[in-house]
Amino acid sequence: MAINDFFMNNITIIRRAVQASFALFTLYAGYQFFLFYQWSMGQGEYVAKPPAVEGFLPISALLSLKRIFLTGEFDPIHPAGLVILMAALTIGLLARKGFCGWICPVGFASHLAQWSGARLKILLNIPAWSASILSSLKYLLLGFFLYVIVWNMDVAAITSFLQTPYNLAADAKMLQFFLAPNSLTLAILIFLVTISFVLPNSWCRFLCPYGALLGLLAYFSPLQVNRDPDSCIGCQKCDRQCPGGIKVSQKQTVRSPECIGCIECVAVCPKKDCLTLQGAAGTKVAAWLLPVLTVLIFLGFWATALFSDHWQSKVSPETFRQIYQIAERISHPTY
Ligand code: SF4
Ligand code: SF4
Ligand code: SF4
Repeated sequence: MAINDFFMNNITIIRRAVQASFALFTLYAGYQFFLFYQWSMGQGEYVAKPPAVEGFLPISALLSLKRIFLTGEFDPIHPAGLVILMAALTIGLLARKGFCGWICPVGFASHLAQWSGARLKILLNIPAWSASILSSLKYLLLGFFLYVIVWNMDVAAITSFLQTPYNLAADAKMLQFFLAPNSLTLAILIFLVTISFVLPNSWCRFLCPYGALLGLLAYFSPLQVNRDPDSCIGCQKCDRQCPGGIKVSQKQTVRSPECIGCIECVAVCPKKDCLTLQGAAGTKVAAWLLPVLTVLIFLGFWATALFSDHWQSKVSPETFRQIYQIAERISHPTY
């Protein structure tokens, strides 16, 4: 009980600390990758390529995941990206969108933008019907990727794509995208950053197909927030706290794919046991279970991959170096 009380009383600080830790690690990995890229371009000392940056290659990871199901072969080129995707999907199935609420550094950045927008008093609260329409955008993007990858590409096409120079250089091309954006990509980036300050959590709620996929899986998760209508006093503190824009005060059970498992609604509710976390068959479980499960699953996948030699790419640094030097001239293969 003492652990639960401590957790619930400090949930915002704990969540920010966990998110910030993952975000700082991601920034560190990004900087290490920048140094590796510099070395590959003949500038600076050799620095080992950090596998964690492959987490930003979800399309490659999705293709690799399909190939595992079809052939049992684990991707040797960007294995860490595949491990991170598998961890996020497992979290989605067992602990809702805990990956979004507690781990994803982009979600944390989106929150910081929202927080800044609130301080600057430029946040817009759009009506629920327009939020629903905008939310459908991410499902359209997800549907497109699932159609092209899961439905359309067979093993031969996937294997062929994964071995292309384009896939090998995917992380370098992503870095080049940010280091030297053309005017169109710069305009899109400025637009996305700007709306993140104005529309609360806009990237995650409206546009991210990764989050859309996790939200669909979360429907099967045994963990969910439950409201006891008899003890609810209708104060709506839960609604105002919810980063997913969910009207918690109007639900009995929160099954929404927008729920990121932050548990902040449970913490803010003034009535004891009115909002609780429930497991399978409606059993009440301690709220800290969801984030702890989320982090343990993520670290468990990472540790298992590390010790079973499925984390580090099997492609040599010298091969990456040669591919990166021609990365700017490599275009997307057509099928
Ligand atoms: S919706 Fe996408 S960007 Fe946002 S936290 Fe989830 S995975 Fe990350
Ligand atoms: S419903 Fe509760 S746990 Fe889910 S996102 Fe909203 S505040 Fe967080
Ligand atoms: S915070 Fe608790 S008491 Fe207030 S509306 Fe939400 S569920 Fe009801």
